Amino acid sequence: EQERFDAIVVGAGPSGNAAAYTMAKAGLNVLQLERGEYPGSKNVQGAILYADALEKVIPDFREDAPLERHIIEQRIWMMDDASHTGMHYRSDTFNEEKPNRYTIIRAQFDRWFSRRVREAGATVLCETTVTELLKDTQGRVIGVLTDRGPEPLLADVVVLAEGVNGLVGQRAGLRRELQPDHVALAVKEMHFLPQEVVEQRFNLKGDEGVVIEAMGTITRGMTGTAFLYTNRESISVGIGCMVGDFAEKRIKPYALLDAFKNHPSIRPLLEGSEIREYVAHLIPEGGYNAIPELCGDGWLVAGDAGHFVNAVHREGSNLAMTTGRLAGETIVWLKRRREACSRANLAEYTKRLEASFVMKDMKKYRGIPGLLHNSRHLLDVYPRLVSQAAQTWFRVDGTDKKTKEGQILGSLRQARGWRGLVGDAVKVARAWR
Ligand code: FAD
Repeated sequence: EQERFDAIVVGAGPSGNAAAYTMAKAGLNVLQLERGEYPGSKNVQGAILYADALEKVIPDFREDAPLERHIIEQRIWMMDDASHTGMHYRSDTFNEEKPNRYTIIRAQFDRWFSRRVREAGATVLCETTVTELLKDTQGRVIGVLTDRGPEPLLADVVVLAEGVNGLVGQRAGLRRELQPDHVALAVKEMHFLPQEVVEQRFNLKGDEGVVIEAMGTITRGMTGTAFLYTNRESISVGIGCMVGDFAEKRIKPYALLDAFKNHPSIRPLLEGSEIREYVAHLIPEGGYNAIPELCGDGWLVAGDAGHFVNAVHREGSNLAMTTGRLAGETIVWLKRRREACSRANLAEYTKRLEASFVMKDMKKYRGIPGLLHNSRHLLDVYPRLVSQAAQTWFRVDGTDKKTKEGQILGSLRQARGWRGLVGDAVKVARAWR
């Protein structure tokens, strides 16, 4: 008789790996399917790894995971065409024994994670695309079909950890097609430089790292952000905006990245580097309201496929690993109680999600995507105003300070009017609550 797995996991990104590892470690018979040549070959991320989420899956990951630099300094930049106004937070306490955030290179990281999944006992098949979910006559999911041949692969439950496109779930009618206003398109390059140059340029020693998150006129009135992260011998630099905005403005993503790289605040940081990689990828940024149905008879959704990204804090892989772990733990819990993976029983997964930071954060920021969509001037007008104010304030030109204050307030009023300013503040406060 054909082998029936306890669980099949579709995808070997952070969510699929966390789910497969959790279940295999608990002794379940797990099959993981990945369409890429190897795990990570198709995956793109900035990339910052948030240690806490991985630690809860693999506590000793620091022993052999391919980590680049631990982050000791965070810069948040508001940019206009010629300047940036920044908030920098640098602390020696980030040089702790078990650092909290690292830069990583996803292709290497995913490969490492997948090796740990195999060592935990799961069967991992690469170069295998899941084409369809298999259902029984009552509509329960009982396995998958792949491009490897006509034989179905059977399991008690399928974890859909297939990433942002979610085509398998979509084809099975479990979710809707992606909406252009729910998804961002990001482009990214890797710029190689000698290690000493990276360290000198960012004032670093050893494995210390710096990350820059940037917003402002660099996205030309579209909703989006840019980033620059230091790796050991390279710098990851990228920018992303909502797909609907790109379509409306007819701006090419690579043109936006070129302009960002040539910004006077960024260009000197990349000078003399060799570009070795250019990639583009989607990010689900529709927030809480874009989350699809998360479970049903014989299936669960985790990670980007479930739209779990906190765009405000640039968190995605940690939500992927946490949802993957919680999906895995729910299945292990049901198996131990000898209960079926029915819709009613798998609802335990959503309960666990609600109790975790994942749903709490998704809910907290549920108003942000709508706010940014309807108030695109926020990322354009305010960075200009802040820069203008800083210019006025810092330039010593014989103008007295009271007059300068008046000029700054005048430019604010002129740009938005008092009503506009108060309205913007109220809208932001409401969405942020
Ligand atoms: P994925 O990583 O997309 O993995 C899905 C896997 O499923 C892939 O390996 C894919 O090949 C496979 N697959 C898909 N369909 C099939 C199929 N039919 N059959 C078999 N296999 C299939 N997050 C952070 O935490 N920090 C960051 O700094 C950060 N920066 C980012 C920068 C960029 C430019 C982008 C695009 C994203 C960034 N994110 C970041 C988000 C983060 O990358 C994602 O949230 C995370 O990768 C989601 O993990 P996942 O496992 O759900 O999906």
